[in-house]
Amino acid sequence: MSRDPRYDPLFEPLRIGPVTAPNRFYQVPHCSGMGFQHPRMLASMRGIKAEGGWGVVCTEYCSIDPGSDEAPHNCASLRDADDVRNLRAMTEAIHAQGSLAGVELWYGGHTSANLDTREVALDVASLPNTASFGIPAQSQAMSRGDIRAFRAMYRAGAERALEADFDIVYVYANHHYLLHNFLNPYFNRREDEYGGSRENRVRLLREVIEDVGDVVAGRAALAVRYSIAADCDAEPELLECFRLVAELPDLWDITVDNYDLEMGSSRFLREAANQAAVARIKSLTSKPVVSVGRFTSPDTMLAQITGGVQDLIGAARPSIADPFLPRKIEEGRLEDIRECIGCNICYAHESLGVPIRCTQNPTMGEEWRRGWHPERIQKRHADQGVLVVGGGPAGLEAARTLGQRGYTVLLAVAERELGGRLNRETRLPGLSEWTRVRDWRLGQLRRMPNVAIFPENRLDADAVLELDAEHVILATGAHWRRDGVGRHSNEAFTGHQDNAVIGVEDVFAGMIPEGRVLIYDDDHYYLANAIALQMRAAGCAVTLVTPAVKLAAWSGFPDEHAGIMRSLYAAGVEILTAQALTAFDGSVAEFSSVFGGPGTSIEADYLLPVTARAPDDALWCALDERGDDLAAAGILSLQRIGDCRAPGIIAQAVYAGHRVARELGATAAAARRDRVVL
Ligand code: ADP
Ligand code: SF4
Repeated sequence: MSRDPRYDPLFEPLRIGPVTAPNRFYQVPHCSGMGFQHPRMLASMRGIKAEGGWGVVCTEYCSIDPGSDEAPHNCASLRDADDVRNLRAMTEAIHAQGSLAGVELWYGGHTSANLDTREVALDVASLPNTASFGIPAQSQAMSRGDIRAFRAMYRAGAERALEADFDIVYVYANHHYLLHNFLNPYFNRREDEYGGSRENRVRLLREVIEDVGDVVAGRAALAVRYSIAADCDAEPELLECFRLVAELPDLWDITVDNYDLEMGSSRFLREAANQAAVARIKSLTSKPVVSVGRFTSPDTMLAQITGGVQDLIGAARPSIADPFLPRKIEEGRLEDIRECIGCNICYAHESLGVPIRCTQNPTMGEEWRRGWHPERIQKRHADQGVLVVGGGPAGLEAARTLGQRGYTVLLAVAERELGGRLNRETRLPGLSEWTRVRDWRLGQLRRMPNVAIFPENRLDADAVLELDAEHVILATGAHWRRDGVGRHSNEAFTGHQDNAVIGVEDVFAGMIPEGRVLIYDDDHYYLANAIALQMRAAGCAVTLVTPAVKLAAWSGFPDEHAGIMRSLYAAGVEILTAQALTAFDGSVAEFSSVFGGPGTSIEADYLLPVTARAPDDALWCALDERGDDLAAAGILSLQRIGDCRAPGIIAQAVYAGHRVARELGATAAAARRDRVVL
């Protein structure tokens, strides 16, 4: 198959200064959690994106000086000749596919705690550190000498970028890093020639653009990453600064001035949400413009180009969820595109200081470590059959991957609808895009003649033994406990058997209580607050109580916390923190302070604990005890995966399903470790 000619504009080359992008698919700089620590993983991951058709593939933020370090976040770096050598592995992998390689030269400023290097950060003023793993310390206000040194540092970074063979070299002037702060009158209160008037505040950016431009002239394109307010007219200052430098670089990479909006989770933001602001910038410059918008629909992408919103389709998450997205459009295989669900699990793991992973793409981060390619896979090791029990994310991915390998697969599922937890959770407010995890896999499975699906088939051990399969994989899931056992307490609360205690599974089954509902969140992610919003919308008075100091604390890693809190307050949900549930008598719940302060009593008609899950492992236990029967039935292997083995996030279940299928019949090799060896 070949592409629909409608999409031709997405495949037109574009000149960017002295280089030419082969098409309009542009993987903007995005964090990988690999950075300078894992250069082989990084090169392999970025190279695969180029293979998948991304015409430009960039690094993450790339430190140019020890004074710019965001440990334990893992940035790239171009601080010395060894960094040049390491990053050359990445540019070679990208060039081998005919794509351009970009590098985002970065200096942090007061947002960098420099926990690794212990250097003092420079910035426009002495500003308190704001890093998530921050320190109670401030930056050094830059003197004129510091500014001269900073410019020299950028020039040296650009020279190393050329040595590493990059085609596009960025000046990084957004995300509240140093150059951005000089532009911003809120932070820049200097009284020298770098502060005060707009021309003065723009001076350093202009100088750095000119310095880097001198270095890369004729050899690489100069890009500037720049942000504007989502509502340009409400906050015109950055727009006005932009006008002063609009024609200087070869390319503008535009973001909005707020991470919540730039890479907002799908709970709160849709595709192409910021296009009005991007179009505004484009109208102010003759230079090409690129910006992100979690673009997964080829038609939306096309409209960006033909509608003059931007010249290149910027992508971070869509390129993580499907590194082969451009290739699939090119080959007319739109139904194979694995769309990002906007869960931000990728970003969450970068925030945690480890290599990224992806809910939709289980090979992300495993390209070098385990040798997993997102599209190619080893064929089956033998002409054998596999029974997969369970149609949640783990079972669906296992069946799909085994089907791709050519095994004969029987997929048995208790319910009529496949999807497992996805079917239940995605009915909650804001989570509908997560159905893509189910739908993409179902779409693939239905086109595989070697996979047979048996819905409404709840299997017991005898039924499994009777089926004709050499391998059995159990992915039977988990259910939510209703006794309050969770992270904070390993004991059930007094009164947990009361009729007024409802479980998450009751809510999934469609129960909407009336009156005052008290939700106890010892899960700390999305479920309790999504149920709170659902019940509030149904007219309940809702109070959310958590034993943690911060409600939904883990949602900070996928950058959803602010959105969750805003939506809870807007909906009128009451919130109480640092209170641990001890008892409920059907009308009053008792809490004790986790710090020994005063406890609380709250009247409620219903109490809903969202704490921990219990694995649904009865089938596993029954089969595990019948080793002789398994052998007699010709079953060579029995494995359990996903939530029935260890309840976790959806990304973990998909990964488990993929891994068990990859490794079936293969000698399981330990993952390679990308590290310095003396
Ligand atoms: P995971 O996240 O590990 O994939 P889910 O809870 O989403 O788990 O899915 C569990 C799946 O297992 C559901 O499709 C459910 O219908 C199915 N299931 C559970 N027990 C059985 C059984 N005994 N026979 C067939 N299917 C089962
Ligand atoms: Fe998209 Fe989630 Fe994958 Fe990130 S982890 S790329 S948000 S599907």
